[in-house]
Amino acid sequence: MENKMVQCKSCGAQFEAALVRCPYCGSADAFAEEEEYMGQLEDIREDLEESGKEGEKRLKKGLGKVLGTAVITAAVIVLLVLLLFWVSAARQRSRARERKAEFLMEQGITTQQESTQE
Ligand SMILES: [Zn+2]
Repeated sequence: MENKMVQCKSCGAQFEAALVRCPYCGSADAFAEEEEYMGQLEDIREDLEESGKEGEKRLKKGLGKVLGTAVITAAVIVLLVLLLFWVSAARQRSRARERKAEFLMEQGITTQQESTQE
């Protein structure tokens, strides 16, 4: 495989394009320098990507925390609603029992008798 040759812009000597600097005069070749610069840019891009992933992880962790809190809050609300429903149902039952007792009293039957019969 033949290496690509470039001409030194400073001294005019031919040298391999892979070299960053001219081996004869030490002048930096524009093409090689650009490649080096692109490599550095690539490194920076990778670093940014890496920190972006880190941020994403942190965001996901935060979201998980928020979701966990939301689930707990929802569970508490559901429990409260169930409790309220149960309490109101219990009140309705006791009110119905009172009405039944009143009705029985009106009919001349005491609840005392009923309870002894049971
Ligand atoms: Zn040179």
